[in-house]
Amino acid sequence: MSLTGLAVLLLFPEPLRLWLSPPPVDGLDARTTPDGRLLGHFPYAEASPQNLVEVAPGKALHRDAAQALLGMQRAAAADGVQLVVLSAFRPVTLQKELFFDVKSERNQSASERAQVSAPPGFSEHSTGYAVDLGDALAPQSDLSVSFESTAAFAWLKANAARHHFILSFPPGNAQGVSYEPWHWRFEGSADALKLFEAAHRLQRD
Ligand SMILES: [Zn+2]
Repeated sequence: MSLTGLAVLLLFPEPLRLWLSPPPVDGLDARTTPDGRLLGHFPYAEASPQNLVEVAPGKALHRDAAQALLGMQRAAAADGVQLVVLSAFRPVTLQKELFFDVKSERNQSASERAQVSAPPGFSEHSTGYAVDLGDALAPQSDLSVSFESTAAFAWLKANAARHHFILSFPPGNAQGVSYEPWHWRFEGSADALKLFEAAHRLQRD
């Protein structure tokens, strides 16, 4: 190690600690950055099962987000827009499958994969506050950037904030995650706001 390298490690114990600690996800060499992110994604704990309620068959959200989502769907329906829940709460075990199985299926490197999917333990979906939405009248745009041309997306852009949902990964976001017009997170409670504070701060800086 060079003298400069040594000086950097002595002056900045946090990077040193990170450098010495093992990678946080089994099967992934990547390490977290000083702000806690792994390949761009912030760490998130899994929601407690007692806080989850169903918003669509087999799909659940944290009760606060669920209530807001149902209200938002009703408001959208009154404007002739049908918001479909494509994905909601995901346990860390499912996120692990999504990350690693699809990664190997598509022959992606970890950093390529992380641009479109969070590593397990680092997904907003595990909090129960994030939801992937589609337009019932345009199912071909599900989970695709073309969702941004749908009536559902136009409606969300104009109205989601009123229901305390924000777009997590806008174009050119500071986390370096691919643009996801379908992925919205709830920030309408003190708990939710606190969870996403670091992501907010980064986006602002
Ligand atoms: Zn999502």
